Amino acid sequence: LHLAQTLKSEVPPVSVANALYDYVVIGGGSGGLASARRAGAHGAKVAIVEDSGKLGGTCVNVGCVPKKVMWNAASIAEALRDAQSYGFGPVNATFDWEHIKDKRDAYVHRLNGIYETNLIKDKVEYLSGHASFLDATTLKVLDGKEEGIIKAKHVLIATGGYPTIPNVPGASLGITSDGFFELEKQPRRVAVVGTGYIGIELAGIFNTLGSQVTVFSRTDQILRSFDPIIKETLLKEMQAQNVHFVSHSNVTSLSRRGSQEHGPIQLHYTRNRGKEQSSEFDCVLWAVGRSPRVEGLSLERAGVVLDSKGYIHSDEWQETSTKGVFALGDVTGRAQLTPVAIAAGRRLSDRLFGGPKFAQSKLDYQNIPTVVFSHPPSGTIGLTEPEAKAMHGQDNIKVYQARFTNMFHAMAQHKEPTAFKIICTGPEERIVGLHLIGRGSDEMLQGFGVAIKMGATKADFDACVAIHPTSSEELVTIR
Ligand code: FAD
Ligand code: NDP
Repeated sequence: LHLAQTLKSEVPPVSVANALYDYVVIGGGSGGLASARRAGAHGAKVAIVEDSGKLGGTCVNVGCVPKKVMWNAASIAEALRDAQSYGFGPVNATFDWEHIKDKRDAYVHRLNGIYETNLIKDKVEYLSGHASFLDATTLKVLDGKEEGIIKAKHVLIATGGYPTIPNVPGASLGITSDGFFELEKQPRRVAVVGTGYIGIELAGIFNTLGSQVTVFSRTDQILRSFDPIIKETLLKEMQAQNVHFVSHSNVTSLSRRGSQEHGPIQLHYTRNRGKEQSSEFDCVLWAVGRSPRVEGLSLERAGVVLDSKGYIHSDEWQETSTKGVFALGDVTGRAQLTPVAIAAGRRLSDRLFGGPKFAQSKLDYQNIPTVVFSHPPSGTIGLTEPEAKAMHGQDNIKVYQARFTNMFHAMAQHKEPTAFKIICTGPEERIVGLHLIGRGSDEMLQGFGVAIKMGATKADFDACVAIHPTSSEELVTIR
């Protein structure tokens, strides 16, 4: 077993067999990297084990980063669409999927390298290989045929997750979000199954870039856990943008016509348990959720238990059922977002290695802002209206709403909606939920998130003078 970084810089390999560390982190993704680096910065002897051959995890390689590149490309398509309304001559731009894929891959590759350099800066040893437990403090790291045993006073499991593929005949003919990032060409007719974050974001990107998109939902909703103002406004807008929506549908199988290896895919489905129907697509994307990556870790040898949904159970201190073994990020199933994994990882390392000043350091999972990069984007923090009613009672909440067209669209032919909702509770009208959809919502939410985290009331919002002309001014003038 060798240190990956010494191999890369052609220094003779260093054997780390039987090495003893203060902290071993399994998984070089968002949470693992952040936690390992923070521990290293505190002076702990740290190793991080990663089995994919590249650092950065889901977010960098097959998540937030390449997704945002594609969302940016889609945003340019929208700008081109609106250009004529602003006096530009006809724009006949063609979109070259292969071109942006190559550039995107090169960018991700650069990031992989930067993460490696950052580990060196914080004196974290990078072990390339697959980690599994021998017992709670001993790990086996397997890299091809090479094997090493390392010991650790503390172990962090930050192994993330992977896209779920439903158990239906022909499922492998479809792709997942991982496959989306491998597509060399833009498919013409796309089916997206699932209407969570990933289904909605990728459906929006495909559609805005010119594919014909059909979204299959097992209910009559999209983004089911979001506030009605977001999910209802967005569904209507996606339909107005020609996304075909098939509600109450259950995909029963996929098949390929004849023996063509790359021919169209037949998607067979039922609606409301009716008779089977089928439609033809060039690409079927499964976006039915993600599963925790726990296989191959031999968790039972460390006594680490899973919750009823198969995620690693960890408490508010990120502690698992075994003392000295911690878990955070997607593998724990809580708020599966990169900044959550990073924040939980840093706070844990502060607590373990930062001395008495950080003795109480932990992540507060309340009021986490999050954005869906839809078209237009949506952002949310705190309770939805149904949640606020259930928690505080109908009579103890007050809801402020605004719906309008952003001034940008006054000139444009296509008019996208903007809709905001503020949910307050108690006589002091403390803000417990904020839900935004519309142009700029993605960048608008962070600052308001700070205010809400500080306990802002409606009066605090009103006391801030508006910035004109913007969309966000509505949030401090709403009545
Ligand atoms: P990961 O980043 O998945 O890292 C886990 C690492 O552990 C991986 O590198 C894996 O190879 C490694 N590993 C697993 N098992 C082992 C083992 N036994 N030994 C060694 N290594 C192992 N979040 C946002 O906040 N904003 C977004 O815009 C956003 N967009 C997303 C878009 C998509 C398409 C997807 C799929 C996710 C998106 N997310 C987004 C979610 C975000 O990517 C995850 O929440 C985040 O990456 C979780 O970090 P993590 O450290 O828990 O796991
Ligand atoms: P989600 O849990 O958000 O959504 C899963 C979707 O799949 C839901 O619409 C669900 O339907 C549907 N579904 C589940 N099973 C089936 C089935 N058998 N048939 C049809 N539909 C099914 O998962 P995602 O994979 O979209 O995203 C995973 C996580 O990644 C997110 O929760 C988020 O935390 C993170 N992420 C964050 C992003 C961001 O910050 N912008 C972007 C992308 C991902 P139903 O609604 O009926 O339950």
